[in-house]
This record gives sequence, structure tokens and C-alpha cells, in this order.
Amino acid sequence: MSEDSNFDFFQQQVSDLLLRHRSFLDVSSKFQESNARVNRALMKAVTECGCIQVNARRRPVPQDATLEEWKEQLKTHLSGELCDHCLDVLKAEMGKNLFYLTALCNLLNIRLQDVIEQESKKLSTLGVFNLR
Ligand SMILES: [Zn+2]
Repeated sequence: MSEDSNFDFFQQQVSDLLLRHRSFLDVSSKFQESNARVNRALMKAVTECGCIQVNARRRPVPQDATLEEWKEQLKTHLSGELCDHCLDVLKAEMGKNLFYLTALCNLLNIRLQDVIEQESKKLSTLGVFNLR
């Protein structure tokens, strides 16, 4: 059993504030919308601000590469760095996205902390294969 975490506190805050959008349909569609807004904020950083750039092409998978060589090959396709404005916008949208994810947890009686712990355990087990 884990103690009360920041996630529990956040989950309680969401629960207290979520008076207007208590319907599962509202929460679920707001969650999806907030996800699109995170993506939109990223695209605007590229196309309107220009602080980050996308430079993408197919990446070849070397057959006999070492792990280090493989990591080197796995480019993010991103360059540049988010400016303060785009960072603020993106973080705000990510916050809303987390809000609605947490609201969904509340409606389904799922503890956010448990979701994170379960995923964390899975990541430890997967280890290096998670790079893929
Ligand atoms: Zn920017």
C-alpha cells in the first residue's frame, strides 16, 4: 500500500472541481478534445512560432547494430527548443489533458496513482525493449 501522493491530492482536487462536467460523455469527449489541443499547441509551435522544427524521414533499422548505435539511429525528428510562450501554452494544454484523464479515473473509481505505478512496473520489466 502506498501513502497518499501528489497524485491523490490532484485527483481529489479534480473531484472537488468537477461539478459541471460529471457526465461520462462530457468527460470522455473533453478528454479527447484536450488531447487534440496538446497536439495543436505543438503544431503551432512549429508552424506559427517556429521555435521547434520537424525534420522527419524514414529511419533505416540496422541489422547488426549495437544498442548504442541503435539509440543513435532513433532520432526524435524534432529540433530546436520550445520558447517560453509555446512552453507555457503546451504545459497548460497538458494540464487540461491530465485533468480530464483524472476526471475519467474518478468516474470509473480508478486511482491515478495505481495507473502510474502499474505502468512504471511495466516499464521496468520491459527495460530496453521499450525503446521500440
Ligand atoms: Zn515558440
